[in-house]
Amino acid sequence: MSIGVLEFHGAAGEVTGSCTLLRTDRARILVDFGMFQGTPADEARNAVAPQVDFALLDAIVITHAHIDHCGRLAMATELGFRGRIYCTTATHELLGRVLRSSARLQRARFYERANGSAPWSRALMPGEAPGGPPEFPTAHRLFDTPEVRDTMERIEGVPLDREVKIAPHVALTFRNAGHIPGAASAEFSIGVGAARKTVLFSGDLGPDRSALLATPHRPAGADVVIVESTNGERRRDASDPEETLAGIVARAAEKKEKVIVPCFALGRAQLLVHRFARLRTRELMRGLNVYVDSPMAVHGIEALYKHPEYLADEPREIVRAGGAPLWFPELHYVLSKRESMAIDRMVHGGIILAGSGFMDAGPVMRHLEESINREDCTVVLSGYQPEGGFAWKLQRGADRAQFNGKTVPVRARTVRVEGLSGHADQDDLMKWFAGFVQKPARVLINHGVDSARAALAGRLKTELGIECTLPARDVPIEI
Ligand SMILES: [Zn+2]
Repeated sequence: MSIGVLEFHGAAGEVTGSCTLLRTDRARILVDFGMFQGTPADEARNAVAPQVDFALLDAIVITHAHIDHCGRLAMATELGFRGRIYCTTATHELLGRVLRSSARLQRARFYERANGSAPWSRALMPGEAPGGPPEFPTAHRLFDTPEVRDTMERIEGVPLDREVKIAPHVALTFRNAGHIPGAASAEFSIGVGAARKTVLFSGDLGPDRSALLATPHRPAGADVVIVESTNGERRRDASDPEETLAGIVARAAEKKEKVIVPCFALGRAQLLVHRFARLRTRELMRGLNVYVDSPMAVHGIEALYKHPEYLADEPREIVRAGGAPLWFPELHYVLSKRESMAIDRMVHGGIILAGSGFMDAGPVMRHLEESINREDCTVVLSGYQPEGGFAWKLQRGADRAQFNGKTVPVRARTVRVEGLSGHADQDDLMKWFAGFVQKPARVLINHGVDSARAALAGRLKTELGIECTLPARDVPIEI
């Protein structure tokens, strides 16, 4: 008997814009309502509401506080949504800040683009001619702070592993996904008595054996599984990121270098701070100061102290014993723009962590503008970078950079650190499935480019005999 219908309104064949409607004969639930990110054309898609009747929704479930999963949530009330929003307690605490800072950013962009003062930057490959400002798509204000306030009043934070009834004949349990602080898989129990079925949304899954975050919960089974595939065609690099960072630190201390690390505030920033704290314990930090130039990254660190259940065994035991695995005396939190500007002048032999990780906006661009033309500067790159973007070109030998029309030579050294991904790789995803006592009747792969989805589907079929569906956007699928 059919459980219902799934409609994928984003993250089908791509890695952003997560938004899936689950319909049963009695309930309608939206899982995630994220932003599209990447190119200006992707950004423009955010202003188009998904083909979902928000007035008919019983509930919205948010798996975690990354923008590509929650970034459009504050649009829901304007689209007619009147129900409750469910996420983990830790995500609830982060969401207000994420949505408020997104509202502020949208407002700033709207006015900057309206009066032609939008900041821009680009890296130039050898021989590439400098150009004028890029064509910005029309700025849309998707929501503002009053909508964020309305949205926050609808949210119910739920602890991990506690079942809550969220709609007629639908109960929800969050399971630890090991991806970022607060991130969860959403397990839906649908129907009553012997006819109950389980629909499991993996959400973004973290890697196994992360030094900082817990290994994702191993589900015993589910009738229908919707699994992410961000790293569905990748297998982890064997190099130890801590050793690469130790080398960068040693050189920075010796040569009094400034090290700039572009990183996202939730996930990568905490992983890096933890690695630096471990290097400090190993007496390898050589007295270098580390500046976390992102209030959101600081909130992510605090969330882990408050919710140690998201931590891996070792750091969790340290927190429960009253210790601080993400702290050392040379760690500084930069909480204002003034401080952020001041560290540019005072850092000699220091490390700056700042967003955005894609190097397309945020304080990291100012730090780069200040120092990219200096030989005593190292830029540390990690993770996925959008093709043709600033970081992508820098990694491939860009020799000049433009900041708002000013062209400067790139003299800074670029180093890549592998092994800091917040996503499960192909082997981890296979292990996640191998724990299922019974083979799921249906597996749908989303949140990955088509080659990643196909690679994961191929391996699931040959090794575990699981046939997968690769849903297309907006096409209903009966489950
Ligand atoms: Zn994520």
